[in-house]
Amino acid sequence: MMSENCIFCRIAEGKFNTEFLYSDEKVVAFRDVNPQAPFHILIIPRDHYNSVKDVKNADLLGHMFSVGNQVARENDIESFRYVINTGEEAGQTVFHLHLHLLGGRAMSWPPG
Ligand code: AMP
Repeated sequence: MMSENCIFCRIAEGKFNTEFLYSDEKVVAFRDVNPQAPFHILIIPRDHYNSVKDVKNADLLGHMFSVGNQVARENDIESFRYVINTGEEAGQTVFHLHLHLLGGRAMSWPPG
């Protein structure tokens, strides 16, 4: 289930030789090109979903968080924030589901 012209589908296919911090048959994790924290990665499913609203498979969502936890642990990131921007007004700019994991600095609340 790939989508034509989707940059994250291409990344997951390995078209850009992106370095994966984690990879399996369901998901890949890689560094955000425009990091908003010293440690900023994206965990994405290989299958295309426009947003988290389109995912019926709770196991996939659970797996994405589990992968994020593992990558954080492997990189000694003890304190971090997960973000899933959903819809343009919420700041979503890439319409292929992705879980942000941001860490390595103090963060404020509420988010902007
Ligand atoms: P969002 O605004 O939640 O949709 O997040 C999209 C994120 O994808 C942004 O943080 C971008 O910096 C990031 N991004 C866009 N293109 C790429 C790319 N080619 N490689 C890595 N990260 C990307």
